[in-house]
Amino acid sequence: MQKILNYINGEYVEPISKKWLDNYNPSNGEVYSQIANSNAEDIENAYQAAKVAFPKWSNTTIDERSRILLKIADLIDEKLVELAEAEAKDNGKPLSLALAVDIPRASANFRFFGNAITQFSSEAHESVGLNTMNFTLRQPLGVVGCISPWNLPLYLFTWKIAPAIAAGNTVVAKPSEVTPMTAFLLGEICSEAGLPKGVLNIVHGTGPSAGQAIVEHKNIKAISFTGGTKTGEHIARTAAPMFKKLSLELGGKNPNLIFADCNYEKMLEVTVRSSFANQGQICLCGSRIFVEKPIYKKFKKDFVEKVKQLKIGNPFDAETNIGALVSKSHLEKVESYIKIAEKEGGKILFGGNRVTVKDFENGYYLEPTIIEVSDDQCRVNQEEIFGPVVTIMPFETEEEALQMANSVKYGLSSTLWTSDLNRTMRISKKIEAGIVWVNTWLNRDLRTPFGGMKDSGVGREGGFEALRFFTEAKNVCIRYEG
Ligand code: NAD
Repeated sequence: MQKILNYINGEYVEPISKKWLDNYNPSNGEVYSQIANSNAEDIENAYQAAKVAFPKWSNTTIDERSRILLKIADLIDEKLVELAEAEAKDNGKPLSLALAVDIPRASANFRFFGNAITQFSSEAHESVGLNTMNFTLRQPLGVVGCISPWNLPLYLFTWKIAPAIAAGNTVVAKPSEVTPMTAFLLGEICSEAGLPKGVLNIVHGTGPSAGQAIVEHKNIKAISFTGGTKTGEHIARTAAPMFKKLSLELGGKNPNLIFADCNYEKMLEVTVRSSFANQGQICLCGSRIFVEKPIYKKFKKDFVEKVKQLKIGNPFDAETNIGALVSKSHLEKVESYIKIAEKEGGKILFGGNRVTVKDFENGYYLEPTIIEVSDDQCRVNQEEIFGPVVTIMPFETEEEALQMANSVKYGLSSTLWTSDLNRTMRISKKIEAGIVWVNTWLNRDLRTPFGGMKDSGVGREGGFEALRFFTEAKNVCIRYEG
């Protein structure tokens, strides 16, 4: 059976303990590879490799760093099909989605930061009258840690690694143990692109073992983490006493506010996608849908009709819209929320059941599920489910819609459907979310700040925000005789 090895100092190596974890294919429930079950010793080896590589890499010219990042991007593009197939098999997502979104975005991350680093600059402040000139040196931090989740495996892994190495850091990175395959393949691509040994080290294993060892390592200077809010809280508690820099991208429970004056057809089409793309397992999916009363009845009927047409199937079938959930335990967690909804008096308008897919009978398939709720404080409306489950509910006024949108502990993204510019501005200012999409969803310009408010995280990724995170600002104040 294939072994998913660690990539340390430019070489593929077994975990020191020789222990392995089973890796499942969610589309058929079978174990198809073995993952290195690494611990603190493997992390130490990765750290040592990164430490040795740092002085040279941080002094490598911007042009050369940029050239290597762009080469990695090109190689990812060349291997699009191989990587997309690996992602679909490892994660359960439709191959069509991995081909169109996940892998192109992974190469875009390297291409974007390969270019961005050539444009990155810092400030200068002349203190007129004091005869001093200040300028900000932005230097790489050293060895940094990157930890990512399973929902967009290569996409989110590279979203951290690319700015970290572009800025001159060296990295110890851990992908999710649930979906390690494309991170494993990335090692080979980096070697082929000429990334010097030790600049990127990829260590596999569980959160409590390999992940915890990265966070606890006293010489790993910063942690860029994407994952659940509970894990983020634990990481913050562990890292704060060491004064590490932290970027935490956490959970969400994103609202869609749909007003009667919107472009209805466009809204309907996009809302189906924003609800169920990637089986609802995107932190940015709109899982709470609030609809203005005059169009509520029509929306309810049309939305159910459209969702009924989605084809649930094995990820490799080109017709499939909804693939498998990522794991058996996640499927069970999502199902448990459907039961909670029923207990709480929610009305299942569509879905709620497992699906058996021909020739993939043991896969983790679930119908897209629409639940009508009457109280926005119910658990299915407050807690992150992270699956193909949305709630819908009517509202009467803009104030009521805003109040319900903001009455959760999360604040990641939000989507607003309206053609009223004044309302767009009013709501954009008042809504508690790091991202407001208006008449669109998942539209991303990689230069923009990305991140959440409240329990959805701390810090921003994207563009120069990420390059600032991965550098230390040092003010140099020079006095001159005038
Ligand atoms: P998770 O928190 O369980 O795991 C994320 C990563 O953290 C994994 O690599 C895991 O091994 C590691 N980890 C777990 N415990 C750790 C520890 N003690 N120390 C260090 N690392 C540890 O999350 P998940 O289930 O993989 O992903 C789903 C969650 O991610 C959802 O809550 C989703 O909203 C969130 N998410 C957020 C964003 C965003 O940009 N805000 C994007 C995608 C996913």
